[in-house]
Amino acid sequence: MRRNDIPGQHELKKVFTRMVDQEKLPHALLVHGVEGGVSLPMALFLTSYLMCDFPKDGDVCGSCPSCAKTEHFTHPDVHFVVPVNSTKTIRKDQANTDRFIEDWREALTSNPFLSLRDWYEFIGIERSQGFIGDREGKEFRQKLSLRPYEGKAKVFIIWHADRMNPTFGNKILKNLEEPSERTHFIVVTEQPSQLLTTILSRTQRFQEEHISDDALAEFLEHKYGVTHERAMNLAFRAEGNVHAATKEAQDNDDPWLAEFREWMRLCYKKDLVGLFQWSERMAKNNRDAQRQFVSGALKMLDRCFRMGWIETPIPMEGEEASFYKGFAPFINASNVRQFMDLLEEAAFHVERNVNEKLVWYDSSIKAVRFMHTGKKAAERV
Ligand SMILES: [Zn+2]
Repeated sequence: MRRNDIPGQHELKKVFTRMVDQEKLPHALLVHGVEGGVSLPMALFLTSYLMCDFPKDGDVCGSCPSCAKTEHFTHPDVHFVVPVNSTKTIRKDQANTDRFIEDWREALTSNPFLSLRDWYEFIGIERSQGFIGDREGKEFRQKLSLRPYEGKAKVFIIWHADRMNPTFGNKILKNLEEPSERTHFIVVTEQPSQLLTTILSRTQRFQEEHISDDALAEFLEHKYGVTHERAMNLAFRAEGNVHAATKEAQDNDDPWLAEFREWMRLCYKKDLVGLFQWSERMAKNNRDAQRQFVSGALKMLDRCFRMGWIETPIPMEGEEASFYKGFAPFINASNVRQFMDLLEEAAFHVERNVNEKLVWYDSSIKAVRFMHTGKKAAERV
């Protein structure tokens, strides 16, 4: 994890890197923050910085062998302990972090801001709950007794430490009391009050900083390539929940907004020539892109419908806002179902090699009809 992989946290980043630079990193740290915050990414950044062979100006070098390993969460001296449980393929008496380590790396790679719920879904235990410590046993003791492979230090990151059972808590406690050399425990939690008081009293506490909307927006723009306007909207809606904002930014339906807007505009004007050209253009996209258009359009229709129905303003700016404002009233109970069926049907035909130009032109003609049903219904209100 690099410095700029995390939004905000200017002071905390400085504190962490200074402790490493001055060789004053405590052997037991508690990093805590809000739900959906950045305490895990901060623990990962601190670890990468500690392990990096050539750290510079408060950041990792990003190119040394240690950085390559921490970046992929495969550094042999960095150990994770995370909440797990039995699954269809892993028995209860075998369920420990090691059994899930590949999943854990994959989940972190796809989104280091992941929530506990994401993790449970990722490993298929969303119906139960995860625990820390039930079966960590032998492997954990082994890791504790090993000398650091690469010499520098050994780090244990305990994620959602509030899910720790008392037996494991006591085991950890012993190590916090009598730390072995060059070993650091980073305890990460969103609920420090749920931890054993004895653990709290033996760790040095670091709280993540509040992230401003501007800092979060800048991060989303830079990291996920969303437009400035969209980044501002996402940050505003997220209210400091980085996890939610990054998830939405990744789930990007923006590229299709312009295409969808154009389609709806032509339908509204009953511009058959325009719709013919639009269908030709849409059919030139590959099948995957056409599928993405459908799923983006379904989301936009849903948003329009809900905007009119519950009358909740969704914060938006610029073109996006004016489109929704103008168009949302035409999507209502009289036609929302037909519109959605129409799009799903189009996706179905595209999938089955039906001539795509015809599929889209035919769908357009139907959409013109549905649009005007909706317009009439809106006028009656
Ligand atoms: Zn490095």
